[in-house]
Amino acid sequence: MDFYRCMNHPMEASVAQCSRCGKPVCQQCYDPETGRCRHRCGEMVHHHAPNMTEQPKSTFWTFVVTLLAILGGFAVLLLTICGAMLFSY
Ligand SMILES: [Zn+2]
Ligand SMILES: [Zn+2]
Repeated sequence: MDFYRCMNHPMEASVAQCSRCGKPVCQQCYDPETGRCRHRCGEMVHHHAPNMTEQPKSTFWTFVVTLLAILGGFAVLLLTICGAMLFSY
């Protein structure tokens, strides 16, 4: 048990480890360009990379806007409560 075997080919010895999932892969499954396994992580890079870079910005700004809206609502609520308490005394 001195070397790992490929996760896709149990008869092949692994030549490298996938940089994403960390699984041992053989020459056929390893992609030197990406440093990842071809079958699982290599394909995911091309499909998900563009969306992943754009999503955080929009979610961040919607988060900020909703946070400000909630804070504004609380401020108005507190003002109305304080005003009502001041007028009641
Ligand atoms: Zn992988
Ligand atoms: Zn393989």
